Formats: sequence, C-alpha cells, structure tokens
Amino acid sequence: MNPIYAALPTTIFEKMSALARETGAINLGQGFPDAPGPEDVRRAAADALLERSNQYPPMLGMPELRQAIAAHYGEHHGLVLDWEAEVVVTSGATEGIAAAILSLVSPGDEVVLIQPLYDAYMPMVRRAGGIPRLIGLEPPHWTLSADALDAAIGERTRLIIFNNPANPTGRMYDRATLELIANRCIRHDIVALCDEVWEHMLFDGAHVPLIALPGMRERTVKIGSAGKIFALTGWKVGWMVAGEALARQVARAHQFMTFTTPPNLQWAVAQGLTKPKSWFEEMRAGFARSRDRLVAGLKAGGYVILPSQATWFVSVDLTASGIAIDDVTFADRMALEGGVVTIPVSAFFEDAPVTYIIRLCYCKEDAVLDEAIARLVAMRETLAKNSPSPQPRLG
Ligand code: GLN
Repeated sequence: MNPIYAALPTTIFEKMSALARETGAINLGQGFPDAPGPEDVRRAAADALLERSNQYPPMLGMPELRQAIAAHYGEHHGLVLDWEAEVVVTSGATEGIAAAILSLVSPGDEVVLIQPLYDAYMPMVRRAGGIPRLIGLEPPHWTLSADALDAAIGERTRLIIFNNPANPTGRMYDRATLELIANRCIRHDIVALCDEVWEHMLFDGAHVPLIALPGMRERTVKIGSAGKIFALTGWKVGWMVAGEALARQVARAHQFMTFTTPPNLQWAVAQGLTKPKSWFEEMRAGFARSRDRLVAGLKAGGYVILPSQATWFVSVDLTASGIAIDDVTFADRMALEGGVVTIPVSAFFEDAPVTYIIRLCYCKEDAVLDEAIARLVAMRETLAKNSPSPQPRLG
C-alpha cells in the first residue's frame, strides 16, 4: 500500500458520524442539515432521471450547468466568466480540490496551507509529492498576517490553499487579507486554490472571490459546491472555476478521476442556481436563526462561543467555559456519556494544534438543537464542577 494511505486514519467526519449511528447520539459533528433540501431541485433531479439522458455527459459538465454557474456568479458576486473556457463540473468539491492539487503540484513543489485546515488537503498534497508549509492561526480571530505568510513562502512555492469562508472557524477573511494573498501570488508566481464552498453561507458582509482580484484570474482555481448551496450534501456536485489555461490543466486530472457527474443532478443544480436572490437570502436567514438559537442556548448555559460569521459551524472554547479537558477527550465523553456528537478542532491541525476547541454544526431542527443544548449544558455542569478553577489553555 502507498505509505501515505497506510498511515492515514479515517476522516474525523466519518469517525464521528459512525459514533452517532452506533450510540444514537445527536449528531452535531459532520456538517449536514437535517432538512431534506429544496423540493423543486430534488424534483428536477427525479424528473431528469426518468425523462432525460442517463448516458455520459460531456467531461467538462453539462453545458446547461456550466452556463448556470457562470450566470450565478455574475449575478451574485459580479464575476464575469466564460462558461465554455472557465468552468469545469466535478463530483463534489472534494474531487475538484484533488484534481487541482494533482494537476498543479509536482514532486518537490512547496504548498502553503493555513491551519486549522480541512482534512482533505494534506493527504492529497503529500500524494502529489508536494512539501507542505503550514501557517498556524490563533483563536479567537484566526487572523493571517503578512509576516506569517511571507515566512511560509519560499523559492519552490507553487500553490497556496486558501479556504474562505473558513471551515472550521466560521471566519471570513477581510479585503486586506485577500489583497495580501493576491499580492504574494503575483509576486512569487504562485497559484491559489480557493476552497469557497461556504460562499453562500455567510451571515455578515459579502463574499469576495479571490479570483476577482486584479491579476488573479489566470492564477486561481475557485472551488464551489452545490451540496453546500442547496443543503444536498450527498449529491456530490461541485465545480472548478479558473482562467482558461488553468481550467484546461485541472480538467486533465478530473477526466481520469471521475470523468463526469450524474446528468440528472447536473440539470437539477443548473435549475437551482437560477433561483431568485430572495431565495438565497431566506436560506441564509434560516441558517442564521439556527446559529443564533444554538449560540444563545449554550451561552445561557455557561459556554463561551467563538465568533462565527459563516459556514454551518460555531466553535466552543472549552477552557474559557470552565472545562479543563482537551477537545478529543471532551468529544469522546460528550458522544458516549452526554449524547451529542461534536468535532474536536485539533483534527484540523497537522502540528501544534490548539486542543481546547470543539466545532458544532447548527443546521438542525429547533427541537434537535434544544435537546442538544440541554445535553451540552448538563455535561458542562458536570465537568466544570470537577474542575472549579479554569485551567490554563491546553493548546
Ligand atoms: N464538509 C463537511 C464538514 O466539514 C464534511 C464533509 C465530509 O465528511 N467529507 O463537516
């Protein structure tokens, strides 16, 4: 077996969801909503399955979907795209990330990554023969400084992987940070792989895609996800958007990974992307209500929550909440004894992790959130009683 995979544990999301299935605990771990997703989009997929072609679509994706992606970004983010040259449909964002890394990184190339980081990035960088250069961000603001970025960039840097808005922190980077990254990409001839799957799950401010900054069109691969936009995470429909030459390059890896993506799902997503802006605003308002409900309930029960402007997640600072155990121990105990599955944020670090932060997914029905709040608060009371004076941070 390839040693990279031999040494790789099962992803934390699968591990924690399996624990929820085994124990019957409420699953606030892996990010997925418990609502079924928009009915018109699901019906479009069902109709297309019965009435339209089920044979191989074009390798780059159905023209209808590629046109819809370009039009959608034009309407929502002011990005003018050539759908034929700059849009490639993939089987989920994860495939797009993998195709981009495999096609852009050669053995010995350095890749800059920002911690905490999504767990699909590192194995693929290593498999491509890339050498990771990690930047560690610090809670609660998870700010990226010019000094940290400059220290990570070297002669051999080929790629920077940039997740905005960011999972697990729920932070959205400001314009100055985007300009900093664009500036360094241009100065050092680096490509940016921008995982922007949370671009619509944003509750304060507006999303600015890095690819829209001057000089970035030909050096950015932007990753998007229909699973996130329509809360249909099992569909695995995503895409890569890049300047023409780069799009051609990343498509070469895509063609021998999945080659293409089920046509009925592509048609349905194409239809969904044409929904009016008001639909997206209501969708965001619904998620914001759930976030506020979870945060208010936990705060009332003594938890300290880190700010979250985006994604489906909020983070809890265990130490500040009076809990003196590390995040992995807390997550295990919370699942087995407390009846709620969470994600320890240390799973998003390769080295020197902060070990006192838990990620919670809030896109659940009110009753589920309320029960989860009650269980989390009960656990905090038990644990805080056993450690009355807050311990110094463990991370
Ligand atoms: N993106 C999801 C999350 O952060 C997980 C996706 C997966 O499990 N592959 O929870």
